[in-house]
Formats: sequence, structure tokens, C-alpha cells
Amino acid sequence: MRQREPAICLRRSDYSETSQVLHFHTRGWGVARVLAKGAKRPKSSSGGAIDLLSEGELVFIPGSAGGLGTLVEFSETFTRQGLRKEARRLNAALYMVELVGEALAEGDPHPEIFDLLHNGLERLGQDDAPVAAVLAYFQWRLLRCVGLLGELKTCVGCGQAAIPQTAPRGGVFFSSIQGGLLCPACQADASEKRHLDGATLAGLATLAAAEAGRKVSLSDTQAIGVNRLLDYHASHQLGKPLKMARHAIGD
Ligand SMILES: [Zn+2]
Repeated sequence: MRQREPAICLRRSDYSETSQVLHFHTRGWGVARVLAKGAKRPKSSSGGAIDLLSEGELVFIPGSAGGLGTLVEFSETFTRQGLRKEARRLNAALYMVELVGEALAEGDPHPEIFDLLHNGLERLGQDDAPVAAVLAYFQWRLLRCVGLLGELKTCVGCGQAAIPQTAPRGGVFFSSIQGGLLCPACQADASEKRHLDGATLAGLATLAAAEAGRKVSLSDTQAIGVNRLLDYHASHQLGKPLKMARHAIGD
């Protein structure tokens, strides 16, 4: 049956001389993989080649039994040209769509993540966008929505507050396998862990406050620390590194 959905293009690959396979995140149907026949011809029904990040109304027939669906029509409403003016905005945007494509299963709708992605891409396209902070907020919310964010208040080892009031000796660590923060006492036994510096911890606290509805802003240093941590965590959870991480997040 035909579906008509707001959709954002997450990924595309060539299928033949004239056709493409496109991955869309649709608002009400979830991720859809569709074959766009003739999409590379100038006068196809889809209006020609469809760019990554472009958003519009997608009409498609879902594939059966996990197979490719068919694109019927795509009318673009957001071209996202603003993102293409600067590499760091574009890289952050491409990281966002890659993360959505990897974190969500096909045909599993998450309208709140569609809206999060739409808002994130729109914000990145604005001249005054704090790129690292927009990406940090996006990663935080996405991982929260899919249940991967982990425990960021108490220690996953012992349940005590993970961040002591006084500067902890040995520092605070995060374990992706154990799914959250480790206090100085518990981190000693963990083989997989990542040390968190003060800026990253402050960034995590700021994001938690923002989620609780307080108006706060992340500094660039905090946002970069959070982005590295959440990228580390996401790549562990997904079982592979994200291709755009090197460009969008850095080492
Ligand atoms: Zn502990």
C-alpha cells in the first residue's frame, strides 16, 4: 500500500546507470529503503537525483519481507543549501543522518526522532548555529530516545553518586559496555572505560539540565567533550565506528 510521509534522505547509493537506492527517515513509517528508478535521469517523476539531507514529501510503496521498497514521488521542501556553505556544518549534518540510519531499524517509526533531526538540520543551517553544541544536544536526545544513553547520574557499578563533590582522585570514567558512569572506586575493575575530563562532565550536567527544561548553553569545549564521549558510546553500541565521526567529531 502506498505511503505518503514527510521524509529526510539519510543515505543513497547507485543501483544502476539510472537508478538509486535511497534510505529515508519518514516521520510516520520509520526508516524506508526505496529504489528510485530513473532518479539519475533529469526528467524523472522524483524530479531528478535526490540529495542527502533533503527533506520533503515522499510517496512510496514499502518493500515486502525486508526487500527494497519503491519510490513513487518525492517533492522536496527543504534543500538544506545553507549547510553546504561550510564544511563543519555539513559534516555535523551528515553525522546526524548517519547516526539516525544506523540507530533505527527499518519500518520502526520514531516521529520524535524525525522532529529532532528536522530541527537539528534546520538549526545547523542558520548562520549563528553553535555547531558542536547542536550536535551534542542531538546525540544526547537521539541516544536517550532509542534507550542507549546509559546512566549518567549514579555509578553503574555500585549505585553511589558517580561524581563526588570534591575533585575525585583518579577521575570519573564512562563504560559503554556497563552502560554509564563509573565512580573512582568501581572504575579500577573495568577493562573497557573512557576517562571524562571536567569539561565533558560539565557538558553532561548541562544537557541533563536542558532536558529538565532549564535554559542553558554548552560551551564549545564542553560540547566537543560530550560529542567525543557519545560518539565513542554510540560506536560501541552499534558495533562499528560511524564514517562521519572523523570529520564531524575529530579524534
Ligand atoms: Zn561505583
